[in-house]
Amino acid sequence: MPKVATVRGEVDTASLGQTLMHEHIVNITADVEKEYPDLSWPDGKDAVVRSVAETLREVKDHGIDTVVDCTAFGHGRDVDVVRRINEEVDINIIVATGIYTYDFLSFFFEYGHPARTVNGKVEDILTDMFVRDITEGIAGSGVKAGVIKSATDRAGVTPNIERILRAVARAHRATGAPITTHTTVASRNGLDQQRIFAEEGVDLSRVVIGHSGDSTDLEYLRALMDAGSIIGADRFGLYLPDLDLPNMDVRIATLAALCAEGYSDRIVLSHDVTCYGDWIDKEMGSHLTDWVQTHVTDQVLPAMLEQGISKEQVEQMMTGNPRRLFESQGAY
Ligand SMILES: [Zn+2]
Repeated sequence: MPKVATVRGEVDTASLGQTLMHEHIVNITADVEKEYPDLSWPDGKDAVVRSVAETLREVKDHGIDTVVDCTAFGHGRDVDVVRRINEEVDINIIVATGIYTYDFLSFFFEYGHPARTVNGKVEDILTDMFVRDITEGIAGSGVKAGVIKSATDRAGVTPNIERILRAVARAHRATGAPITTHTTVASRNGLDQQRIFAEEGVDLSRVVIGHSGDSTDLEYLRALMDAGSIIGADRFGLYLPDLDLPNMDVRIATLAALCAEGYSDRIVLSHDVTCYGDWIDKEMGSHLTDWVQTHVTDQVLPAMLEQGISKEQVEQMMTGNPRRLFESQGAY
């Protein structure tokens, strides 16, 4: 039986069940936390552990068995807190390695540890870090990453982003852990990610092109899936029409059209919402009343059935596709 690494250790992929494929458990700003911890945790860590565990208990009660925490290095990952939360709640949490930036790389990487070609082979500390998180565990915790995250935003594939995408591809090929990404659909940069991954020999069926559900461009979405990848319809609840982030009905109508064309085997669902973060402005997000961890199970899935997506297709997107992704294993 194939197994996947979770915060509580390895589990059979058959027991992953309904899976939210792109969420965030905690997002903590590392430099702030190190020197001004009271600003990152004004109510203390224990209170956060209790309240996030409560949120995740509710998620579990609503039928979710597994949450993929796409919080990479540079995005506020704190695996020790996630481990403590998971001790309080019976749910599978798969955590990520990778690095989250839209372009900037610290001097540590840029000057201290640039990528080098030695005997025709690229050596990059980024790849080594990602592999270490997957094979040994993150930050000495023993908790192993089960997925590799990278981001491409409005700045596009800058030299730093290209370096990261190639390091992610090499770590994927060295470990077999699947890749999951952040994209900006306006610049259709999922295609740029696929091009670089393909140049590195990545099997694109082992890649989730994230935030694709922000797009209503069927031609773009088909292109991503025709190349083999899974698309993440992973921002349900983030409805900001002024920023071209469509509402639930528009998102579902796009997926219904794709499901009718036979693409339900290459779509996964989620919210991309953070349980606790020190850089999330509560006031700013207060009008996003649907952007909560139970929106998919409570509103989205029933609405999908009403809009012509079948029960089997919902099952595929929530359970079958995540399982298949994590069952594609092994270095190559
Ligand atoms: Zn995210």
